[in-house]
Amino acid sequence: MGEYKIAVVAGDGIGPEITAEALKVLEVVGEKFGHKFIFDEVYAGGAAIDKFGEALPEESLNKCKCSDAVLLGAVGGPKWDNMEGSKRPERALLGIRENLGLYVNLRPAIMHKALADACPLKKEITGDSFDIMVVRELTGGIYFGERGYREGKYGNEAFDVETYSEYEIERIARFAFDAAMKRNKNLTSVDKANVLESSRLWRKIVNNVAEEYPEVTLTHMYVDNAAMQLVRNPRQFDVIVTSNMFGDILSDEASQITGSIGMLPSASMGKANPGMYEPIHGSAPDIAGENKANPIATILSVAMMMRYSFSLTKEAEAIEAAVTKVLDKGLRTPDIMSEGMTLVGTKEMGDAICAEF
Ligand code: NAD
Repeated sequence: MGEYKIAVVAGDGIGPEITAEALKVLEVVGEKFGHKFIFDEVYAGGAAIDKFGEALPEESLNKCKCSDAVLLGAVGGPKWDNMEGSKRPERALLGIRENLGLYVNLRPAIMHKALADACPLKKEITGDSFDIMVVRELTGGIYFGERGYREGKYGNEAFDVETYSEYEIERIARFAFDAAMKRNKNLTSVDKANVLESSRLWRKIVNNVAEEYPEVTLTHMYVDNAAMQLVRNPRQFDVIVTSNMFGDILSDEASQITGSIGMLPSASMGKANPGMYEPIHGSAPDIAGENKANPIATILSVAMMMRYSFSLTKEAEAIEAAVTKVLDKGLRTPDIMSEGMTLVGTKEMGDAICAEF
């Protein structure tokens, strides 16, 4: 029995549709396991720009800070594409991450057996399934570094600086080694140490932390090779730890080879609650409002919230099992549809998952 306050940022595009399904699942979980989930509606992203003139109003940030966890749909869309960088909807995400101190982004890339046909790779490469956990550093590196314009050798130029401190590398490395200890004890650290000074420091600190985890097998891999190995032999990976920008790119690649971007959840965490839980995909403006979006990534994000923020393991497992059962029964949203399966919309997929409890 517990009471949990969840700040719900539905956001833009398909955001409101997919979060609505995740909240339905939370209601059912609450009833079944005797918890009370209190939802607090929060405006951020394009919806907040339209209503309040800024992507992350102070009130929204405060609501997130006062919650036990944040659930986010997605933000952004063509309507706001021409805005100046610092005012765009996506800045809301960076603002929440920074203000809540969310330095870890956990992105599982799991290919479900039932969706093997949706995977673009050959069966002999993927086998029946694979299960990779990408641990991405989230509050450092080039996305938060010094930036600007200046007069250069060829006229006006722009720059963004990649910076990592020993402290930042050590805390993300420790998180990744701990994660590997709970899985198959295999950690791949991805960098570009043959070119970048910040990567050479990254490698040195990861090696230092490795001494505390003698049971974990550590491999270093350059990011270009990692991008290739993910499509060549994804089953070699267990846990991958990497910087903010490399993690952004590699986790999208890992998601694509699972079959659908609409299936993959993520968790962003700091030292304490609240953490933030969101699907890895964006606001999919091309299908917004059409009842076509796959709500599973958001529903599985709620499962991660149960596990990582509330330590409700049984509840997390029940949500994951409900998703697997519905997939095994052949229900599919358009993005994961294949021959012989039953096509359903966003709402019907949410209802079917709720019905499994
Ligand atoms: P996207 O992830 O929104 O869409 C890429 C493709 O995947 C589209 O064809 C879309 O229809 C499909 N797709 C995505 N989620 C789906 C789902 N749940 N079910 C079925 N299909 C799905 O990426 P994009 O098109 O590059 O970006 C669109 C907007 O979203 C941009 O404004 C971008 O800045 C923003 N964005 C937001 C986040 C976030 O809020 N975390 C992340 C990435 C992009």
